[in-house]
Amino acid sequence: SRYTKQDIINMIQDNDVEFIRLQFTDIFGTLKNVAITASQIERALKNECMFDGSAIEGFVRIEESDMYLYPDLDTFQIFPWRPQQGKVARLICDVYRPNGEPFEGDPRYILKRVIKQAEDMGYSFEVGPECEFFLFHTDDNGMPTTITHEKGSYFDLGPVDLGENARRDMVLNLEDMGFEIEASHHEVASAQHEIDFAHNGALQTADDIMTLKLVIKSIAKRHGLHASFMPKPKSGVSGSGMHINMSLQKNGHNIFYDPEGDLEMSEDAYHFIAGILAHAKGMTALTNPLVNSYKRLVAGYEAPIYIAWSVMNRSPLVRVPAARGKGTRVELRCPDPACNPYLVLAVCLAAGLEGIKKKLVPPARVDRNIFEMDCNEKEALHIESLPQDLCEATRELEKDAFVRNVLGEHVSEKYIEAKYKEWENYRVQVTEWEIEEYLYRI
Ligand code: GLU
Ligand code: MG
Ligand code: MG
Repeated sequence: SRYTKQDIINMIQDNDVEFIRLQFTDIFGTLKNVAITASQIERALKNECMFDGSAIEGFVRIEESDMYLYPDLDTFQIFPWRPQQGKVARLICDVYRPNGEPFEGDPRYILKRVIKQAEDMGYSFEVGPECEFFLFHTDDNGMPTTITHEKGSYFDLGPVDLGENARRDMVLNLEDMGFEIEASHHEVASAQHEIDFAHNGALQTADDIMTLKLVIKSIAKRHGLHASFMPKPKSGVSGSGMHINMSLQKNGHNIFYDPEGDLEMSEDAYHFIAGILAHAKGMTALTNPLVNSYKRLVAGYEAPIYIAWSVMNRSPLVRVPAARGKGTRVELRCPDPACNPYLVLAVCLAAGLEGIKKKLVPPARVDRNIFEMDCNEKEALHIESLPQDLCEATRELEKDAFVRNVLGEHVSEKYIEAKYKEWENYRVQVTEWEIEEYLYRI
């Protein structure tokens, strides 16, 4: 690894770090942390820092609640936006049980387990995400609104408004933390932005997505704005996705590229796509985890609805962007930024590997706009839809033994239970829409 324990201790001393946040992610994708002072770092590095697992949703019951944090030394970072005196740093941790076994409910462990399977087959899994988000104004009490005064759109240079300045600051802070930012731009909707960083190994990318979201939220706040990763904060305009670009490498070569292959793609690339499509329904409750996620998966906003793949068209679930050679990749377009990136990358990798192992063949690609096809055409091409709401998606997850097995029993049970509950809470609401639509008329 990059750093030794002594390196960490030195960096803390040399940089006058006062607090260290020990971070981990719960199964629903929420970043958690315990802050310790610099005086406790040796204890933390000996894996002796503990927390109460029963206090974290989806973790464990009270009777078995002690959990230990094992810091991953390579994740040491100083938060550049915090005070320069008495700095704040973080270490991302793995969660362990008191008996020294990794905790099966730790999403990072679940991803590591699948990465290990890939490594045993000689592969490294490379992932680059495209995270979209909104920057909204806050009200007089500092509470977030969905109000924005800007009128920018896709790739606009923009009048120098609050959002542009905030995004610039986000990029600079991320670069200070070692991110290689490939692009950052305004997205289609007013107040909507995107920041893309270079692809990396899957574990690092999942860690980086969690960090990216923290940085975006923190810097937005300093600019008096609220950053939201809610998939569809406003009806009638684009929602926020987090497309995932995936490739497999073997001995430093991108194995999705084959100059001789159909479309210059290798057999394995096709098998990988087939594996993803085969489990698309079962994965949706993970890639699109909220009631609100399904308000994004509707026609007209470049978000996918149909289980199909294409090389150009943006309406299908899976797209193979034009780049070839090292850049050959498969883009999955359903995930949104509310997802737990560890779990999503774990199931994507597992499904893709399954496709390779079983030599699954994808359906013919669809380069036409599926939204313009009628039902008969779609049926003839065997084009199915993604689950339409969280309830259906959770049922599909329940039915997909392969995806549940990747998650393990603990996480699948907790996840499915929580998502049904979330759906039920939503289902019993009487919404503004219903009042508008029915109260007067009926
Ligand atoms: N905002 C779109 C979505 O919900 C994606 C737009 C794009 O292709 O970048 O997925
Ligand atoms: Mg985008
Ligand atoms: Mg994209």
